Amino acid sequence: MGRIGRIDPPHGVREGTRTAPCISLRPRARYALPGATGFSRMDFNLTEEQQAFQTTARDFARAEMMPHARGWDEDEVFPVDALRKAAALGFGGIYVKEDAGGSALTRLDATLIFEELAQGCVSTAAYLSIHNMAAWMIDRFGSDDQRRRFLPKLCTMEHFASYCLTEPDSGSDAASLTTRAVRDGDAYVLDGAKAFISGGGVSDVYVVMARTGIGERSDAVLRTAMGERSDAVLRTAMGEQSDAVLRTATRGPKGISCIVVEKGTPGLSFGAPEKKLGWHTQPTAMVMFENCRVPAANLIGQEGEGFRIAMAGLDGGRLNIAACSIGGAQFCLDRTLAYMRERKQFGSRLADFQALAFRIADYATELEAARLMVRRAASAVTLGEGGATRLAAMAKRHATDAGFEIVNGCLQLHGGYGYLRDHPIERVLRDVRVHQILEGTNEVMRLIVSRDLLGN
Ligand SMILES: Cc1cc2nc3c(=O)[nH]c(=O)nc-3n(C[C@H](O)[C@H](O)[C@H](O)COP(=O)(O)OP(=O)(O)OC[C@H]3O[C@@H](n4cnc5c(N)ncnc54)[C@H](O)[C@@H]3O)c2cc1C
Repeated sequence: MGRIGRIDPPHGVREGTRTAPCISLRPRARYALPGATGFSRMDFNLTEEQQAFQTTARDFARAEMMPHARGWDEDEVFPVDALRKAAALGFGGIYVKEDAGGSALTRLDATLIFEELAQGCVSTAAYLSIHNMAAWMIDRFGSDDQRRRFLPKLCTMEHFASYCLTEPDSGSDAASLTTRAVRDGDAYVLDGAKAFISGGGVSDVYVVMARTGIGERSDAVLRTAMGERSDAVLRTAMGEQSDAVLRTATRGPKGISCIVVEKGTPGLSFGAPEKKLGWHTQPTAMVMFENCRVPAANLIGQEGEGFRIAMAGLDGGRLNIAACSIGGAQFCLDRTLAYMRERKQFGSRLADFQALAFRIADYATELEAARLMVRRAASAVTLGEGGATRLAAMAKRHATDAGFEIVNGCLQLHGGYGYLRDHPIERVLRDVRVHQILEGTNEVMRLIVSRDLLGN
């Protein structure tokens, strides 16, 4: 690969491993004067390798994405060639292990890469983030056979991947999903529909969360009503009625499984591409299953583990989406700094109006805070620290809200020109807006954080 995957990740930390930090506890070091020792400091510097990933991603974004982003947006082009070129640099399987063709980098490395790629095109970088999330779920929870079957082509992006959790009636309350996968011999038969699926219709591999068993609440309901009889016995006993009862009663994360459905499987179909405010370089569509027979060998992990797998994917996905907001905001801020130095009104440069200059100072401060939060959370996710999910939710909430506010403020500082398609800011504004909604809305991020704090 002569690519980023060849560079050893920093500090010997690899995704999925928990290398114990090499710390020797020397209490006196804590009280040493600044500069006397490194033990009392956090290291905020990027390693040479990380700087190399950043430069590679920055160069790629400037050469292969930035010049085309406006045209892709206007013509709603899914940029297959650019994505495959990105994959040739190792961006198709950033934290997939090397034996399956991935780059085996850390979550922190990934956030550096997505921040740079988003400066080229937010929407395309965000699709790449979802593709990476789906590939990682197969890498982390799949069997050797599944990793061999699916990952090499995902890492080169010969194949594209989608993540299928949301349904028409199950968004924030994702555990209430009702798509069913019923075991029939050596297959699962899927019925149901997924909504808002990024890459829907163009992706080759769909990582689908579907219900293979009954959930917690239904267990309770049914047990109260019918004692300890099993699901299978209930189905036989209740005949026709059981489906309806189970569908109403079944909710909750228990009983959800993760299954890969490949494009071309009979019974798999797609809705028309949604018409959206932004994210025009990637299609979003309904994904439907009707009597869709999928080999049982496509079950990722064990039956009933799907919700946990889906949430684990989102921890990393949220960091990347956050990094895409930071990249988009940095892109707009840089343009606004240049504009304020040049644009004159009332005989002065915009840069000389203190009220405007202070706004810029605040945007840069918010951006730096967001970046630090994302990187801190990324380290926690890589190391599997307790609290990593909370930190990722905090970082996603802050970075995507700050990102949108900054881009919107930059548009304001461009006056009427910011509103025109001739300037890229309105495109970035449309693209980063959805980051406050997807992979868990920012209200849901507050739910995750507050539940963790309050123990709810
Ligand atoms: C462009 C786009 C791409 C997407 N891509 C994917 C994808 O690839 N895969 C996928 O699975 N999904 C995808 N989604 C779906 C996305 O994750 C959901 O839209 C999101 O989780 C919110 O669900 P919902 O739209 O059903 O809103 P709802 O859950 O109906 O929420 C409506 C409003 O109520 C608020 N709300 C809901 N519950 C609570 C609560 N308990 N407390 C406080 N506020 C609450 C929400 O924050 C929101 O403001 C995508 C969405 C979009 C727009």
